[in-house]
Amino acid sequence: MTKRILVVQAHPDDAEWYCGGTIAKLARAGAGITFIICTEAEKGSYDPRANPVELAATRKREQEAARECLGVREIVYLGIPDGELQATLELRKRLALLYRKYRPDVLLTFDPWKRDELHPDHRACGTVALDARLAAKMPLYYPNAENLNAWAIPEIWLFNTDAANQFVDVTETFDTGIAALKLHASQSVTDAQNIAFVTDIARAEGEKIGVRYAEAFRRIMMEGSISRVR
Ligand SMILES: [Zn+2]
Repeated sequence: MTKRILVVQAHPDDAEWYCGGTIAKLARAGAGITFIICTEAEKGSYDPRANPVELAATRKREQEAARECLGVREIVYLGIPDGELQATLELRKRLALLYRKYRPDVLLTFDPWKRDELHPDHRACGTVALDARLAAKMPLYYPNAENLNAWAIPEIWLFNTDAANQFVDVTETFDTGIAALKLHASQSVTDAQNIAFVTDIARAEGEKIGVRYAEAFRRIMMEGSISRVR
């Protein structure tokens, strides 16, 4: 079955850092993947002279190249200022309506409960993405908004987790994930140290299931059903 997959992330490059091999593998298997990128990522530079408007445009260009590399179909940008992502009711609604529109079989997002995650956007992203799932499936939230039916996402994979219960063998697509990561050239991703870091993690996760490279997730399954508003 061809799956529909939504990946809710804070910044361009998040999916490539944490689960690029998995995204490439799912795309190769025929999944229809859409990235929802919450922020403009315009503060993602250590250069105090960097122009935030130009940086946001650069990062969108890089993400477009990475999208193509991974085989992702579409990207939706929500335009929130970098570093200011919060789990607001407004953002919950925006995401819930996107869930109702795209009707994904699987939602990928940050594990909001990961201990020691210091990026506030990453924590907020996971929280609001999960909160939106409940709102999307209950028809009395935003009744008749945009004429969309309620949608219960039946399966969630949390990346950047410290409580993994699922390991995806990415031996075949790990190189594609790394290639996509390197396309985010404004983010120092080509530093050998960073690539070695990502590779070491994939190798360690792979050892747990007896393969060369793997990526780890916290998988949550639910017995959801489609609710209708009309
Ligand atoms: Zn990020």
